[in-house]
Amino acid sequence: MNLYDMALVQFDRAARKLNLSDGLYRVMRSPKRELAVTFPVERDDHSLTIFHGYRVHHSTIRGPSKGGIRYHPSVTIEEVRALAMWMTWKTAVMNLPFGGAAGGVACDPNALSKRELEHLTRRYATEIEILISPEGDIPGPDNGTDERVMAWIMDTYSMHKGFSTPAIVTGKPVEIGGTEGRREATGLGMSICTTEAMKRFEMNPEGATVAIQGFGHVGQAAAEAMRAAGMKIIAVSDTKGGIYCKDGLDVAALIAHKDSGGAVNDFPNSDAISDAELLQLKCDVLVPCAYEMQITKDNAAKVQARIIAEGANGPTTPEADDILHANNIHIVPDILCNSAGVTVSYFEWVQDLQHFFWNTSEVAVRLQKLVSTAFAQVFEIRLKNKVDFRTAAQMLAIKRVSDALSTRGIYP
Ligand code: NAD
Repeated sequence: MNLYDMALVQFDRAARKLNLSDGLYRVMRSPKRELAVTFPVERDDHSLTIFHGYRVHHSTIRGPSKGGIRYHPSVTIEEVRALAMWMTWKTAVMNLPFGGAAGGVACDPNALSKRELEHLTRRYATEIEILISPEGDIPGPDNGTDERVMAWIMDTYSMHKGFSTPAIVTGKPVEIGGTEGRREATGLGMSICTTEAMKRFEMNPEGATVAIQGFGHVGQAAAEAMRAAGMKIIAVSDTKGGIYCKDGLDVAALIAHKDSGGAVNDFPNSDAISDAELLQLKCDVLVPCAYEMQITKDNAAKVQARIIAEGANGPTTPEADDILHANNIHIVPDILCNSAGVTVSYFEWVQDLQHFFWNTSEVAVRLQKLVSTAFAQVFEIRLKNKVDFRTAAQMLAIKRVSDALSTRGIYP
C-alpha cells in the first residue's frame, strides 16, 4: 500500500458514514490538478544533477490550496498526492478558508551544499510558479525544508513579480513577513489536543509520560509544549537512534545539544534505546513526529501507550488503526493533532495580506480557541457516531468540503 492508497482507505471509511452522493464522493476522492517537473541543478563541482519535483492541488473548493514542500529522497507523486488530500481535510477540520495542496522534490537536502540547496529551491519555485500565488496556492515547510527555504521561495517569486510578495509562502522568518509563534505552533497545538484528550479520558497531564519519535521541527516543538504543560518526556529518537530517561529528559538542554551539532543518542544522562523500542515503550502518550507509516500491523499490537498524538502526517497505517482501536488506544489523528501548523500559517497569510502584524500572545490566544473548538467538534462526532477519532475528524472535514462543493455546484 502506498501513502495515497492509505489516504483513500481513511477517506472511504469516513465517507461511508456520511452517505454522500456518488458524484460528490468521486469528486473528493481525486486530486484537482497535478504538476510534475524535472530540472537540472549545477553542483559545486560544475556537474549537473537532474531532480524530479511535484506540486499537487487536491482541492480549492473552500479557498486557495495550502500545503507543505518536502525535500526527501523518497518523495513520489503518490506521497505528494496523499499529503495534498490530508491538507484538504486538515484545513477543513480547522474550518480555515483553504483547500489542500502539497509539493516536494526527491532529494537529500543533507547531501547538498547551501549553494546547491538554494539553487534547487529557486529553480523548483520557478518551475511550480504556474501553480502558486498568494490567492491560489500557498506553500509552507515540511520534512527537510525550513525558514531559509521558505525565504528563498519568497524571494524568487518576488523577484519575478518585481515587488515583495510575502503572502506567497508561510513559515518564513519574522524579518520578512513571517509570524510570531509559527515555529512553536505545531507542537503547541499537539499539546492542546493531548491535554483535551486527557481531560476526556480522566488522565492527568501533570507527570504524564511521553515518548517522541523524531526530533526535528515538529518533535522539538511538541517536546517543549508538552513539557510546559507538565508532561514528562521520557524518550526521544531520531534517525541515529533513541534515548530514554525515566525521570524525564531536560528538553531545553537536548534541543541546545542538537542545535550545537550533537545527535540525540549522544545526549548525556540517558540510556540508549532503539527507535523500535521507543514505539513500544510503556508510556501515557506516544508522539510520532518523524515520518509516515511508522506504526503498522507489525508493531501496533506492541504499542503500550494510552494515547497516540500524531505529529507526523500518516504515521499510522489503517491496519494498525484497527489493532490500536481494538486495544482501546486513542489516536488523536494527524489532521487534528498537527493542524496548528497550518492554522498559524493561515494567521501568517492573513497578516501578510493586511500588512498588519500580531504579537505572540494574540497568535497563541487565537490558536488555542481554534484548536480546542475543533477538538470538541471532532469528539462530539466520535461519541455520536461511535467511531474512532480519525474517522470522526475525517467525517467533519469531508462534510465541510462536500457542503461547499454542493453549494457551489458543478461548473459549467
Ligand atoms: P524534520 O525533517 O524537521 O524532522 C524529522 C525528524 O524525524 C528528524 O529528527 C529525523 O532525524 C527524524 N526521523 C526520520 N525518520 C525517522 C525514523 N524512522 N525514526 C526516528 N526518527 C526519524 O521534519 P518535520 O518538519 O519535523 O516533519 C515531521 C513530520 O511532521 C512529517 O510527517 C511532516 O509531514 C509533519 N508535519 C510537519 C509540519 C511542519 O510545519 N514542518 C507541520 C505538520 C506536520
